[in-house]
Amino acid sequence: MDIFLYNTLSRTKERLVPLVPGQIGIYTCGPTVYNYAHIGNLRTFLFEDLLVRMLRLCGLNTTWVMNITDVGHLTSDEDQGDDKMAIAAQREGKDPWAIAEFYTQAFLSDIDQLNIARPGFLPRATDHIQEMIAINRTLEEKGYTYTTPEALYFDTSKFSDYGKLARLRLDELKVAARDDVNVDRGKRGPADFVLWFSNKPNHIMKWESPWGVGYPGWHIECSAMSMKYLGETFDIHCGGNDHINIHHTNEIAQSECCTGHTFANIWMHTAFLTLGRDKMSKSSGGFLTVKVLTDSGYDPLAYRYLCLQAHYRSELELKWIWDDESAKTGHAANLDTAAATLKRLYERVARADDEPLSIQVAFDAAVVDVFGALADDLNVPRAVGLLHSYDSPRLWRHFDAVLGLKLEERAVKTEEVAVDVPEDIQALVDERQAARKAKDFARSDVIRTQLAELGWELADTPQGAKVTRK
Ligand code: AMP
Ligand code: ZN
Repeated sequence: MDIFLYNTLSRTKERLVPLVPGQIGIYTCGPTVYNYAHIGNLRTFLFEDLLVRMLRLCGLNTTWVMNITDVGHLTSDEDQGDDKMAIAAQREGKDPWAIAEFYTQAFLSDIDQLNIARPGFLPRATDHIQEMIAINRTLEEKGYTYTTPEALYFDTSKFSDYGKLARLRLDELKVAARDDVNVDRGKRGPADFVLWFSNKPNHIMKWESPWGVGYPGWHIECSAMSMKYLGETFDIHCGGNDHINIHHTNEIAQSECCTGHTFANIWMHTAFLTLGRDKMSKSSGGFLTVKVLTDSGYDPLAYRYLCLQAHYRSELELKWIWDDESAKTGHAANLDTAAATLKRLYERVARADDEPLSIQVAFDAAVVDVFGALADDLNVPRAVGLLHSYDSPRLWRHFDAVLGLKLEERAVKTEEVAVDVPEDIQALVDERQAARKAKDFARSDVIRTQLAELGWELADTPQGAKVTRK
């Protein structure tokens, strides 16, 4: 079956044509390890995991590379401010290497908890400094750079295709605020960006280079690591949609000017996870991590299920409410619903394998149908909707290779689940659970009474609320 993916470059869905038949190379921008990943970052990584799983289920031999940014990412993506690693080192009284190691391990633990497969390659930026210097040298030899006492810059005016990903026009870009003391006065064009920060003797993470002792710009890291592991041209490059205008635009410029040919064929971008009206950002503090979810009593896979319900190009709002001022725990109605649905799914999947599909379609035809949704720009919400309508444990298990909900492992094999609880009754039970979680005990009591009136008795057991007929 053909796979169609939305390419930000062309703003259309394109048929995926692997560069090498049967194989896919995919690069995804990884975490900057100066803090815990927030669950918005993880939404993007989770989408990338779904994409890789879908490609693999389709039989494509997929090489997945995700970098670890452990140097050079400044507080502003436009080369201003301080290195995020240095700020974290100061905040925690450690050296940046220890910060990087600690948050890399935390990141790996987070992705494991969300059942995100480990990428085949997880290269660290600091292990690839020589590769970055080599690209910078080529760019310099080809005349794409200039230097100031502060840095080696990429001269965007030399690359006529500079705006092709973001649909930017260089002549429309505002000149950076020249009176800002942080702006390098030697920088020529507003979009020009740093390939190497020179003259940084006080920076702890620093290396010798032809442009002085210093450290690499952030964008060059991704060009160096992607091309090292996937070749000069590869199939798919992903990231959050905040990276279109600067980071990915700059990756394309420096890579294509260095090699003289296309960098990545398809560019895919995730929309943000939002908390109410606030976009979630790691640098603004008060962000939601996997640990906050688990401390609040949530199964991380409930968050995974919630993410499956929104298309990756649509924003997803988590209706999160912090429990108190200390902001250590909280709850969200849509996450409660996701948790309840997932729990029911574990019970459903435990039932007989040989159950016929609820609507009369053969297994193979149903597989084609669900796969059709996945192959249509990874329409996971539609695939999940179809799976619910087929209501077949076997089909769910088959597609769990993509969904990653651990359906097999967690299938609940209890007698009680064999008792059929009508959907409307179960919905009330779930709503009561959510009310209890939100400490809305008045609402919870009202629901209990309502259930009693409908002839159902409710008991709270260590395995959760159970209803039986009176
Ligand atoms: P960072 O660790 O800041 O480099 O970000 C890692 C990834 O998370 C990047 O691909 C970002 O585009 C993405 N990202 C950042 N914030 C969000 C958000 N709120 N929702 C979804 N993805 C995000
Ligand atoms: Zn990147």
